Amino acid sequence: PQIQPRPVIRQLDEAAINRIAAGEVLERPASAVKELVENSIDAGAQRIEVVIADGGKTLIRVSDDGCGMAADDLPLALSRHATSKIDGSDLLNITSFGFRGEALASLGAVGRLLITSRTPGDGAHSIAVSGGRISDVRPAALTSGTVVELRDMFYATPARLKFLRTDRAEAQAVTDVVKRLAMAEPFVTFILRDASDGDTRVVFRADAQTGDLFDALHGRLQTVLGRDFADNALRIDAERDGFHLTGYAALPTYSRGAAVAQFLFVNGRPVRDKMLLGALRAAYMDVLSRDRHPVAALFVDCDPMLVDVNVHPAKSEVRFRDPGVVRGLIVSGLRHALAGAGHRASSTVAD
Ligand code: ADP
Ligand code: MG
Repeated sequence: PQIQPRPVIRQLDEAAINRIAAGEVLERPASAVKELVENSIDAGAQRIEVVIADGGKTLIRVSDDGCGMAADDLPLALSRHATSKIDGSDLLNITSFGFRGEALASLGAVGRLLITSRTPGDGAHSIAVSGGRISDVRPAALTSGTVVELRDMFYATPARLKFLRTDRAEAQAVTDVVKRLAMAEPFVTFILRDASDGDTRVVFRADAQTGDLFDALHGRLQTVLGRDFADNALRIDAERDGFHLTGYAALPTYSRGAAVAQFLFVNGRPVRDKMLLGALRAAYMDVLSRDRHPVAALFVDCDPMLVDVNVHPAKSEVRFRDPGVVRGLIVSGLRHALAGAGHRASSTVAD
C-alpha cells in the first residue's frame, strides 16, 4: 500500500480565518446590508441610508448619523472578535444587535471595503480593506457619523458569486431586510436607494411628532405593509411572567394565501422562529380556514436573560428559556384582541 505523507497541521492566517467565518454570516448582499444597518442602529443613528447597485453585488453603501468611530478604533473595528458592545463576561445579557465583532472583518474578506467615520473629538478618518490587506488610517471628509461601503462582494470567491440570484431578486432581498429593521425601529428614518434601478427610493420617515410607541409603530407599519394592513390591524398589548407582547395583528378578514406577511421580533431583533410562527397560527386557528394565513407584526420583549440570541451567527434564531410561556402569551394575547373585535374562537385551546 502507498504510504501517505504525514499531514502537517498549520495555524491559518487571519485572512483565511475571516474568509471561512464570512461564509456563515454573509450569504448574499442582503446579509451584508443587515449587518451594516444593525451596526448603524447600535450606533444610535436617527437616519440610515442604504444605497445598492446591481442588487448589491457591485455596491452596498450604508451611511448613518450615529456616534461614529475614532481614528484609533478603525483598525480594531476591522479585526475579528473586536466589539464595543459586550465585554465578554456577560454573554447572557445582550441588548445590542451586534456582539460577535465579526461583521466588518468578514465584509473585508469578501469584498472591497471602505469605512469612513467621524467623531466630534477626532474628526473624520477612513480605512480600507482589499484582498485581505488593511490600509493605514487616513484623514477624510465627512460631516458626521459613519459611511461603510462594500464594493464587488464575493469578487474573490467566484463559487459564491455563482450562487447569487438575479440583481432583481437580490435587490428584493435587500428591501425585505430593510423593511424588517424599519419595522423594529419606528423612530429611525430609513432610506433605500437602488442606483441601478433608475435610482428608485424607498423612504420610511420617522415622524418627529409622535413620542408614543404604538402611534409610531402604526405609522411605520402603514408605510411598510400598506394602508390596508394598518386599517385592519388590531393593537396587541399583553404581558405574562416577564414577557411583553406588543404589535399589530390583522383581522381574519385581512389574511393571505401564504404565510408571507408574518413579522416577528424578539427584543427588537427580527427572527424567524418556528415556535413563534406556530403560536401565531394557533391563535387564529378557529377564525381562519386552513389555507389562509394571518398577517401580523409582533414584538416579544423580555429580560435578555430569558432568551438566548446566540444560537446562530446570523442571529435569526432564538431560544427561550421557557417557550411555553411565550407561546401561551401569544395565543391568549391575540385571541383576546380578536374576541374584542367580535371574532371569538369556537373552542378554547389550552395554552
Ligand atoms: P459587532 O457589531 O458584533 O460589534 P462589527 O464587526 O459589526 O461587530 O463591528 C465592530 C465594531 O465596529 C462595533 O462593535 C462598533 O464599535 C464599530 N462600528 C461598526 N459599525 C459602526 C457604525 N456604523 N457606527 C459606529 N461604530 C460602528
Ligand atoms: Mg455588527
